[in-house]
Amino acid sequence: MPASFEATLDWANARDAADPLRAFRDEFLIPPHEGRDSRLSDSTYFCGNSLGLQPRAVREAVNAELDYWGELGVEGHFKGRLPWMDYHEFVRDDLAAVVGAQPSEVVAMNTLGVNLHLMMVSFYRPTAARPAILIEAGAFPTDRYAVESQIRFHGFDPADALIELEADEPNGITSMSAIERALAEHGSRIALVLLPGVQYRTGQAFDLKAITELGHRHGCTVGFDLAHAVGNLPLQLHDSDADFAIWCSYKYLNSGPGAVGGAFVHERHAKAMLPRFAGWWGHDKTTRFQMGPEFVPTPGADGWQLSNPPILALAPLRVSLEIFRRAGIDRLREKSLQLTGYLEWLVQTQWADVLQVVTPTEPERRGAQLSIRVTGGRERGRALFEYLMANGVIGDWREPDVIRISPAPLYNRFADCLAFAEAVRGWSRSI
Ligand SMILES: *Cc1c(COP(=O)(O)O)cnc(C)c1O
Repeated sequence: MPASFEATLDWANARDAADPLRAFRDEFLIPPHEGRDSRLSDSTYFCGNSLGLQPRAVREAVNAELDYWGELGVEGHFKGRLPWMDYHEFVRDDLAAVVGAQPSEVVAMNTLGVNLHLMMVSFYRPTAARPAILIEAGAFPTDRYAVESQIRFHGFDPADALIELEADEPNGITSMSAIERALAEHGSRIALVLLPGVQYRTGQAFDLKAITELGHRHGCTVGFDLAHAVGNLPLQLHDSDADFAIWCSYKYLNSGPGAVGGAFVHERHAKAMLPRFAGWWGHDKTTRFQMGPEFVPTPGADGWQLSNPPILALAPLRVSLEIFRRAGIDRLREKSLQLTGYLEWLVQTQWADVLQVVTPTEPERRGAQLSIRVTGGRERGRALFEYLMANGVIGDWREPDVIRISPAPLYNRFADCLAFAEAVRGWSRSI
C-alpha cells in the first residue's frame, strides 16, 4: 500500500475534505452513539456489509407511495408519478448498471433465498450422470440449506451430490487452482457451480469470469451469490457469461431491512423456454391481463417474477440505486480501495501483534470488508468486539472468531478508519 498514509487526524480529515464523494455521507442517516457523558455523536458505522444505512430520501419516497395509495386507491397502478404497474421497471436500468448487465437481464424481486431457489429450479437440472452442485466449504447457511434441499428434492443424496470446495490458502482463502482441481476431479458429475462474488466470512472476492469459463468448459451451469458483492465491487455480469446470479439489497445497496432482492439471467437464456416455477407477473406483459390459462413468459429476467411487487419495499431500492447512479460504481470502488487500504495499513502498522487480517491482502481479491481475527483466541476477539460496540464502532461478529469491519465508500470516511485504530488502542490499554 502507498506509504503516503499517515495515522493522524489531520491527515485523515484532509483526505476526507479532498474526497470528491464526500457529500454523499450527508445523504444518509448515521446512527447516533451515546457517549459516556450522555452526549450523542455519530457512531462509526462499519456494518454496511450487513445492513446498509438509510438514505434520507427514503422516507419521502415511501410516504409518496402511501399518499398515492390513500388518494388514488386502485388507480395508483396507472396514475401517480411512478405507476405501480411498471414500478419494478423503474429500478431496472440503475440495477443493470450496478451489476454490469443489460437491462433485460436483471429483475428486482423477492429476497435472496427465494431467488436462489427459483434460479435453481431453472438452472439445476440434475441427471444420474451429472447430479452434483459445487459450493465453497463454509458457505452461508442459506446457500447450503437451499442447495442441499434442492438435491434432495430431485431425489439425490447430498452426501454424494453436494461437493464442497476446500480452501487451500491460509485463513479459508481459496485459490483459482483449487477450483480448477475440483473441476478436474468432479467436473463431469457437476450440474451446477454456485460460488460467491465475495465470501461473507473471509471477504475474499472471486473472479466470476474465470470461474464461469472453467465451469462451462466442464459442461456445468454457473451461478453466483452476490450478496456481499453487489454495490461493493463493480461487476460485469453480462461479460462474465454467468448463467444466473442472485443478491439481496439491504447490505451495500442500502435498501433497508428485508429489502427486495434481485436476480440476473444471462441474455442467452432470455427466450429459451427454460423450466421454471411460474406466476402471473412473469407472464408476457402485453397479454398478462387477458388472464389466459396458458403461461407465456416475458422474455428476459422479468419472466421469472411470480407476484406483483411490494411497492413500499421497492421505493427505498429505487432511491438507493439512484444514489449509486450519481456516485458511479467505478468511482466508489476507487475510493473503497483507498479506504480499505488505509484501514489495513493502520492495522498492519499499529496492531500487527494483536490483529490478524483474514481477508486477502491483494486489493483485487477483496471488496470493502476486512475480516479480522484477534490473536489469543475467541474470547479476546469477543472482548474487543464488545469494546468496539460499546464505544460506537459498529462492526459485526461472525463465528467462530471473526470481526468484520467494512468501510462503505458512500458514507465512511478516512477519519472513521482512524477511529477504529484509536478504539483498538483504547481496548488494549483497558486490558
Ligand atoms: C446475507 C446473505 C444471505 C441472506 O439471505 P436472505 O434470503 O436475504 O435472508 C444469503 N446468502 C449470503 C451469502 C448472504 O451473505
